Amino acid sequence: MRDTLVLNASFEPLSTVTLNRAVVLVLQDKAVVEQAHPELRMRGAAVDIPAPRVIRLCRYVRVPFRRQAPWSRRGVLVRDRHRCAYCGRRATTVDHVVPRSRGGQDTWLNTVASCAEDNHRKADRTPAEAGMPLLREPFEPTPADAMLLALGADEFEALPDWLARDAA
Ligand SMILES: [Zn+2]
Repeated sequence: MRDTLVLNASFEPLSTVTLNRAVVLVLQDKAVVEQAHPELRMRGAAVDIPAPRVIRLCRYVRVPFRRQAPWSRRGVLVRDRHRCAYCGRRATTVDHVVPRSRGGQDTWLNTVASCAEDNHRKADRTPAEAGMPLLREPFEPTPADAMLLALGADEFEALPDWLARDAA
């Protein structure tokens, strides 16, 4: 009941997001409320709106929802919340776990956010060779995450435990 259905601008159902995320999209003018819960309101310091049951995006997004999100450097940084996979400090670069020079691909599972220092230090080595274990495993975004990325969001919908703990 607390999940909100998201429709594309074309009214095609895309995904569900949490109620909080739906409200944020509405407040950011990225979506409009198509249908609200009759007796539930979202109240905050400057907000008092009916809780959206269905929202529709203001702009059409083209996302391959049945497949994985297209890989991008920005997407990897968003996924990892700009935290370095090797030291946990702020990351500004994307590191290939298996280096590109050794056949590593631009994929979600082979790339992690990394600080420039660690990226440089690791160079053309695997984490094992470099003695730099990953603090966490890379993962593929969900369809809801893919939609949020396409909308320009800077956070994924469902944070994995290790990130939720960091964020708290
Ligand atoms: Zn680092």
